[in-house]
Formats: sequence, C-alpha cells, structure tokens
Amino acid sequence: MTRILDEVTAANRAYAADFGDKGKLALPPARGFAILTCMDARLDPAKYAGLAEGDAHVIRNAGGRASDDAIRSLVISHKLLGTREWFVIHHTDCGMQLFDGATMATLLETSRATANFDGTTWTNQQAEGGSPEGWHLAWLTFRDLAQSVRDDVVRIKAHPLTPDDVPVHGFIYEVKTGELLPVD
Ligand code: ZN
Repeated sequence: MTRILDEVTAANRAYAADFGDKGKLALPPARGFAILTCMDARLDPAKYAGLAEGDAHVIRNAGGRASDDAIRSLVISHKLLGTREWFVIHHTDCGMQLFDGATMATLLETSRATANFDGTTWTNQQAEGGSPEGWHLAWLTFRDLAQSVRDDVVRIKAHPLTPDDVPVHGFIYEVKTGELLPVD
C-alpha cells in the first residue's frame, strides 16, 4: 500500500458509510446537461457549477479540449442519456498554455520521467527511458485562452453528430476568484 492508496481507500470508506439514498439515483443526468472542462486539480465542477451526484455529466481532460474522445462522450451524453445543454469551461493559468506539442514530444523522446519547469523552459531530469510516441499524439495545447474556448465551441457545434438544438456555452473559470466568465 502506498500512502496515497491508503488515503483514498479510507476516504471512500467514510463516503460509502454516509452514502444515504444515492444508490437510487437514475443513470441519466437529472438536470440534463453536460460540462466539458479541464482536469486541473483546482477546478471542482461539482462546486463551481453547483452539482450533486446524479445531476450532470462532467467530461474532463487536459485543457477541457474538444478532442474526438470528448465529442464521443458528449454525443453519448445527448443521444443515449438525454442531456440538452452543454458547457465548455477552460480556465486561467492553464498548464496547457505552458508548452506546445513539439516541446512535449521532444521531452518524451528522451525521458518519460517528470520534467522540470523553471517558469520559462521545460527540461528533462534524466536522459533515458524515452519514446518517440509523443510525436503521434495531438496534445491540443493553446496560447490564447478565450480563443481556445471559441475554437472548441465552434468545433462541437459544427460536428456532424452534434444535434442542432443543443446550446453550447463557452466559459472561462477564473482560478483566482472562482468565477465563471462567459466567452462570446
Ligand atoms: Zn487546465
């Protein structure tokens, strides 16, 4: 057992002990919407958007980007589970603005170990155990935060599997205040 594993399993025992009647929740989200957002640890969609278990779908990845897999989840969310409104929520100070695809692939080519960041440049701490596979992934980084939200809203709306009548709202979550700021 690692310390983290101990902490997670202990927290789960406490959660399950106080689970109440949540075992009776229906599978389709009760409030009929889905959020696509970043995996950043400072973001808690349940809190920033007021969700309880069973309320909404939350799809998370690095950046909250409209990747093919995020779109797969959104289409399932609507087509099979009835969500009628979608949100794309990126955030200030996102790590996806701190590198680009070539930087990531170059780092991984030399080493898979966690890299150092000095505020400007990423460097490997070791020079072994790399793989060229990083060159084959779309890392979906961005420079302009508001534009990244617009791009993803446009991509989702334009996707042939997106229904015409599902609104897609774009927002930026401000990590310094917790506010959701709309993106036109
Ligand atoms: Zn982020």
